[in-house]
Amino acid sequence: MKLADRTSRIASSPTMKVGATVDRLRRSGIDVIDFGAGEPDFSTPDAIKVAAHQALDQNFTRYTPVAGIGELKKAICERYKTDYGVDYTENQVIVTAGGKQALYNTALSLFGPGDEVITHTPCWPTIPEQVKLADATPVFAHTHVEDGFAVHAQALLDAVTPRTRGIIVNSPGNPTGALISEGELRVLGEFAAKQHIWLVVDLCYEKLIYDPVPHNLPKVLAETCPEQAVICGSASKAYAMTGWRCGWQIGPQAVIAASNAIQSHSTSNVTSITQKAAVEALRGSQAPVTVMLDEYRKRRDQLHAWLTVDPRLRCRKPAGAFYMFVDISDTLSPDGFRTSLDWSDALLDEQRVAVTPGEAFDAPGTIRISYATSMELLREGSTRLLAFVEKHAPQAATAR
Ligand code: GLU
Repeated sequence: MKLADRTSRIASSPTMKVGATVDRLRRSGIDVIDFGAGEPDFSTPDAIKVAAHQALDQNFTRYTPVAGIGELKKAICERYKTDYGVDYTENQVIVTAGGKQALYNTALSLFGPGDEVITHTPCWPTIPEQVKLADATPVFAHTHVEDGFAVHAQALLDAVTPRTRGIIVNSPGNPTGALISEGELRVLGEFAAKQHIWLVVDLCYEKLIYDPVPHNLPKVLAETCPEQAVICGSASKAYAMTGWRCGWQIGPQAVIAASNAIQSHSTSNVTSITQKAAVEALRGSQAPVTVMLDEYRKRRDQLHAWLTVDPRLRCRKPAGAFYMFVDISDTLSPDGFRTSLDWSDALLDEQRVAVTPGEAFDAPGTIRISYATSMELLREGSTRLLAFVEKHAPQAATAR
């Protein structure tokens, strides 16, 4: 069977794969602790669900404009004005099926054959795969465990060549939770404006930052490169709405018009009911976001304390998102598990704990633990994980 060439250039999402495996095991009656899922375990806040019910009751079930209803585009503009003090107009916004489609629209609108697009690793695997789907080439700038995977402008700029057409930054980043500072983004923004390259910022975890550090990235983009900047955002993580599929893309009018054309021939509008729910999410009380963030913080701190009892599990508390990114290279060896992929498979097999292996993020020797799960399960899962390390890497402890 001859499939299109592009299918051989990409692999299916390894982050989604962990969830599918857990689902399969559970359906066959096997109980698994799922540290893979990159999604909130909270229910969507009640007020948002009420808005969706109302939409249904009012038969708001037809097509909407491809880019979304005016009310929602306005609510997105208002949210960014309130949170960041930046002004966008409705024709600079398109509503998308999650942050994923916002990034995909962006890749298809801006990049093509011969273009290089730089991003930082460890990274969310969808980012480079989408660049490839746009027939462009992803280029990686590495971030490092020693400084908590902080994103430095210079590392990205060092990867620039005459073919560079764009830079994609994800902050807070998945899987590391690391942030880019306003100063570092400013350097990139000034470069983008001068060189006429695109600067795409994935802000899907923007509401999940634990300490009050300056992170007004939209303002920096507005001040440095408004004509070259695209923001991709999402209701999924902030409002526990992953299944509703609602995100947005904000950028220059021409980019949004191009994305609108692409989306008009692929998915058309985001579900009408979801759009009404998202209006409530963005305009209503933001208190549920704080409640969830406070709970994630407690889990982060507790999980970090539990795991770091074993010095072979090296990790830092992430600044944002809800992932503990753990360097397990001290537990790997030529005689035992050679890769974090083998290690993660065995952990699932023996202890029934699912984690995402670092190979998914171009970061072999690491694992990602999602702590978007209850404290009770985090405790039980950490106990099993520590027992697994103790069983399989006892030599390393004495060797250190
Ligand atoms: N962003 C989440 C993760 O990294 C959801 C899965 C996906 O869409 O890749 O696990």
